[in-house]
Amino acid sequence: MRNAAISDALAKAGLVLLPSPVPAEVCPPEGARVDSCSPADGRIDEAVDLAQPDGLERFDEAWLRLATRMGLFAEDGTFLFLLGVTLDPGNEYPLWTPVRLTEHWNVSGHNAGTISGPIGGGLLTASTDGEVIISGTTWQNGTASAVGVPHPYRAEPIRRDSRRTAATTPEAEPQVNLALTEIDRIDWNSYQCGCGRSAAHVADMLRKLVSATTEAQVSRIELSNHVEIQSFPTEVAPAALSVLVAALGEGLHPAARHKIHLTLYFCLGEEEPVMVDGIPVSACEDAARQGLWQLYRDAAAGFEAAALVINRIRGERERLEHFVSRLEDPPKWVESWNFKPKDVDS
Ligand SMILES: [Zn+2]
Repeated sequence: MRNAAISDALAKAGLVLLPSPVPAEVCPPEGARVDSCSPADGRIDEAVDLAQPDGLERFDEAWLRLATRMGLFAEDGTFLFLLGVTLDPGNEYPLWTPVRLTEHWNVSGHNAGTISGPIGGGLLTASTDGEVIISGTTWQNGTASAVGVPHPYRAEPIRRDSRRTAATTPEAEPQVNLALTEIDRIDWNSYQCGCGRSAAHVADMLRKLVSATTEAQVSRIELSNHVEIQSFPTEVAPAALSVLVAALGEGLHPAARHKIHLTLYFCLGEEEPVMVDGIPVSACEDAARQGLWQLYRDAAAGFEAAALVINRIRGERERLEHFVSRLEDPPKWVESWNFKPKDVDS
């Protein structure tokens, strides 16, 4: 019964339901965080403006181009399609479903089969050997992207998630988001925010930033004038940075990661050190230093602002130059950095 209903729905979208089993090595759908991957993970985007008259057809074409280029289809055309829970209410979690395209197919959501596509909750497809995942997402600016990641088990955001999914033994890493835990620990009311109010609303902004899953959600969060004002950190900045540094160790949307780097960068710009026993103590810089190795990881993954933050941490210049010299496959930003031995930090 279940298969008959699903098969009918898929047929309306030009997809054939296949009886073949789903191989165990395919990344579980809930862990296929393609949108969190970066170009360093091999991520490829095909963006389509949905406002053009045949925008959805163009999306179908973009998905097919990416699917063909990246090898989504098995020899007989089989690939895995994620059925939403609305189509498959018998399952608590969405499941991979082996399918094949017919002559007239549609995965953008423009179909009679309630195949939701990017315009209705997202599209997720994978190759049957688990080597390719391609998603479809809509963005706030009216575009839709087909986003592909090859060898997903090598991409850090996906590896991290699958480790979490596989963590069932008592020794496994606990399922705790350290940034959210840190937010709960801090007494935000005891700080004044840069906007003049008590900082309780900063906790809410940080929670949203850490949990954001789309670029649109990230763009709605503005830490400027709250955590820092024109590169001057505010009273609440050190507390906020301790959360942000914890967040860098968690799975984040790339736009959120970038926003965190920028906030760190601005807070370290004009920070006034406090003298303690004749030693200058900088609370924001100390917070940033807690995330040093993650900042290096992010810089290696192509986040230029992470390198800018490291460059503002006192005493880190030598290590940063050494790190840049050792990058086997340097990201683009390295070219624009003039790392010469005599280029001494001022
Ligand atoms: Zn504020």
